[in-house]
Amino acid sequence: MTTDVSLTCIDCGDIFPFTVKDQEYFREHNYSTPVRCRSCRAKRRQLRAASEDRGVDAQPAAQQPATAGVRIVCSGCGQDAEVPFQPRTDRPVYCRACYEAHKSKRAS
Ligand SMILES: [Zn+2]
Ligand SMILES: [Zn+2]
Repeated sequence: MTTDVSLTCIDCGDIFPFTVKDQEYFREHNYSTPVRCRSCRAKRRQLRAASEDRGVDAQPAAQQPATAGVRIVCSGCGQDAEVPFQPRTDRPVYCRACYEAHKSKRAS
């Protein structure tokens, strides 16, 4: 038989009740036992939402081509080069000159 239990919040150290109703709800949704009190959970949700907002705003700046240069060794000529994207490890990566040469070769 299920009874109300008291749990200790890992954030603020407060004892908070984990009621039978809560336990049923958590079991129904396959949640694990909560480790934070209600107010700390709400606080964390707010924090996460806020940081996600910031993350979206920060992304365009982080993807500026000027800062996105990745050093590679060209698979065509073996020279050091910089590409504006993260190259795939399972594909050869070419410097601009070799890339253009490959592209035009394939096109013709
Ligand atoms: Zn708390
Ligand atoms: Zn090259």
